[in-house]
Amino acid sequence: MALKYNVEYNNTAKIGDRIFKFRPWTTKNEKDYLIVVESEEEITDDKLFDILIRPCLEDPDVALTVNEQKMLMIEIRKKSLGDTFPMRYICKKCKQVNDLDVEFDKIIKFKPDEFRPVTVDNITFNFGPIVSKKVKERLDATNSSVEYAFVNFLLHIHSVEIDGSIEDTFTFDELKEFIEDLPTYIFDEVYKEFQSMKSSLEFGLTTYCMICNEENNVEFDHIPNFLWT
Ligand SMILES: [Zn+2]
Repeated sequence: MALKYNVEYNNTAKIGDRIFKFRPWTTKNEKDYLIVVESEEEITDDKLFDILIRPCLEDPDVALTVNEQKMLMIEIRKKSLGDTFPMRYICKKCKQVNDLDVEFDKIIKFKPDEFRPVTVDNITFNFGPIVSKKVKERLDATNSSVEYAFVNFLLHIHSVEIDGSIEDTFTFDELKEFIEDLPTYIFDEVYKEFQSMKSSLEFGLTTYCMICNEENNVEFDHIPNFLWT
């Protein structure tokens, strides 16, 4: 008999409208992560994606926004290490330390991307997610925040309607030239609307002190004890 553990992608995560099939983390994933922690001062989102998300996905050719990536990571974490995490806070009233186990689902405030068409004058722009990892490479290749924002905007344009006639088979360069030729008032309006479609992700917990029962609103940027330490 060959000694082989059969990996199956039995779990699903729904992030916005998209569904991902994944498997929990393996010993190898944990080891790869700990090696990076030891050798690098800061782990980028891209690196985390390569170590802890991509290897778990049945279809690894996905392009995710930063917030979608965080949400997917939380879903994988829940199946791998449990759906609660230990945290500690100091009560604002009695100053006592509270230790508690918190469910991930109780702290997450996530609004997914919500794409909608934007019309200015005779032009309508139709937006959608970045379609593949290959397309997203253009974004990874940018080297200033202005260029990043501009390319990100372009990659979300799926079609353009001019006087009711739909254009959806342009190349990236054709689209770029078209946008660069637009009067600024059109661009500014469409860009502002696009910004408002983007997702948001915040963490926060409303809880009651175990000693004095005071309501405490605890806010945090990152989830404590999320991974192996
Ligand atoms: Zn208290």
